[in-house]
Amino acid sequence: MIKLKQLILGDACLDCRGCCCHYEQEDTIWSPFFMREEMYELADNNIVLPSVFSGIGLHCGETARPHLVKHEGIFLCPCFDIKENKCKIYLHRPFECQLYPFLLAQKDDTVYLAVAENCPYMQQPGRKELIEEHIRYLMDMLSSEYFLRLAKNNPGIVQDYGQEVAYLVPLPELTRVIHVSSAARPQR
Ligand code: SF4
Ligand code: SF4
Repeated sequence: MIKLKQLILGDACLDCRGCCCHYEQEDTIWSPFFMREEMYELADNNIVLPSVFSGIGLHCGETARPHLVKHEGIFLCPCFDIKENKCKIYLHRPFECQLYPFLLAQKDDTVYLAVAENCPYMQQPGRKELIEEHIRYLMDMLSSEYFLRLAKNNPGIVQDYGQEVAYLVPLPELTRVIHVSSAARPQR
């Protein structure tokens, strides 16, 4: 599976108390999306129990989000260890978690590389060059044949985040494969 180069090192996320792994609502597009290939790899290697995806993912790549776990009024990703404040599958976490705070976001008819501006790391000064270099790296990876094939099989990797993200750069190749793939999707 994809191993993305990381802009934010693990310690910064620990200081942030893993805020992108728990949510206010149970049904949210901010919960992690697991590509079909990622789910199979995790389940086949006993890294994540298949029941985490029960009733969804293993049968339907479009809605491959795990059931969230209610805890003291919030909802946790089932892979989040609340006591240790860290991801239990950090080295195997899905592409979408590796990409964060960047996201693949649809606006009108176009897919963009977007960023969640509320990530504290992105708000700190003096990181412009590092961030720009990382965006160039992501642009190359997101237009690679390997990634485009995965995205075509997993169109749910692109979401409509509305005004909650900043849209950085359009991704024409990804727009093309997602649209082709969506048009081919069976109606349910
Ligand atoms: S919001 Fe940003 S700094 Fe905080 S855990 Fe998520 S990626 Fe890390
Ligand atoms: S898989 Fe890991 S990094 Fe991703 S949301 Fe769950 S706990 Fe967080």
